[in-house]
Amino acid sequence: MSIDHSNLARPTHAVINLDALASNFRTMRGLVGGETKIMAVVKANAYGHGAVECSKLLESLGADWFGVALPEEGVELRNAGIKTPILCLNGFWHGQESLVIDHGLTPVIFRSDLARSLNAESEKRGVVTNIHLQIDTGMRREGVLFSELSAFAAEIAECKDLNVEGLMTHFSSADDIEAADVTRDQIDLFQKAIEIIRKSGSSPSVIDAANSPGTIGFPESRFSMIRLGGILYGLIGDMLPRVDGIPDLRPVMSLRTKITDLKRIAPGETVGYGRTFQADGERLAALIPIGYNDGLPRSLSNRGHMIVHGQKAPIIGRISMDWTVIDVTDVKGVSVDDEVVVLGSQTPQMISAESIAADAETISYEITCGISGRIPRVFKR
Ligand SMILES: *Cc1c(COP(=O)(O)O)cnc(C)c1O
Repeated sequence: MSIDHSNLARPTHAVINLDALASNFRTMRGLVGGETKIMAVVKANAYGHGAVECSKLLESLGADWFGVALPEEGVELRNAGIKTPILCLNGFWHGQESLVIDHGLTPVIFRSDLARSLNAESEKRGVVTNIHLQIDTGMRREGVLFSELSAFAAEIAECKDLNVEGLMTHFSSADDIEAADVTRDQIDLFQKAIEIIRKSGSSPSVIDAANSPGTIGFPESRFSMIRLGGILYGLIGDMLPRVDGIPDLRPVMSLRTKITDLKRIAPGETVGYGRTFQADGERLAALIPIGYNDGLPRSLSNRGHMIVHGQKAPIIGRISMDWTVIDVTDVKGVSVDDEVVVLGSQTPQMISAESIAADAETISYEITCGISGRIPRVFKR
């Protein structure tokens, strides 16, 4: 359940810079040109950035498609008035056939039983439902194996009330330029799959393979559409291949709060659960109202930093569910209610999602996706 954020008294907010999102979209439009369609991937609440607000902006900028994981996420966008085609990247589950059709969603299909039940529901209503087929060219996650594609295509051809509008695959390692052969093999296999589908009597018009790293590292993988998630949110430091010509993209999310309390820690005293930090001298500790329930990884305990007065201050002791303590001994003139930047910049310092992810031994996507529903998103233009 989501909670009511109309009262913003708790000072911990995610600030979503819609100008940066717009700038990133326009930069990518400029890079790939007007012929290539752009799917804005807004699954997982737009990687934590707020799917409805981000989608409204991206629709106004000319996003050709939206990508969500679940039909439920597509319904949220339709209820908010989004008219652009929406692809449900994870397909749907039995029992969601009506939901998909009623809301004009387009599912990815890689299971023939689901195709048949969507076909049956379409026939009952006298409608033809568009679908996109996913081919597994190497990911070994969702998608039809190439070796089973001909048989699968024959089964889909039996579904007279489905229209194969699109064909897609997904890269396992497009961010790894050392593994470029892996991605090239996936592209080759996808091309063969396109031929098989065309020969089976379908004529899909939307052909897509590239995610953010594929778009940057493998221009030949752009086909008729690219599927951009991370790039739109400016999460590029750890997810793109290290190649020349990476465009200038801006982080969209920052995370801001304020000091709740200050206290002196005497030499030898410890901070927090488990007494994992012990003061070696007199320290000034600041209490920060954010914890792991907000999505600040507990693994940043005694590792991460926050910015106060333009200076990095280390996290001391364990991050707990609702509170974190930082050491502000070396920061001049701190007071209660001073601004603290958890993610983002405060001149001249910056803490990126990528650097938090490195400290937490994960990827930037997991950091922004993990910012929980308890944190209000404040949208800025
Ligand atoms: C999430 C997802 C994307 C977007 O990937 P990014 O690396 O964030 O650009 C593209 N395609 C599929 C199938 C996805 O699930």
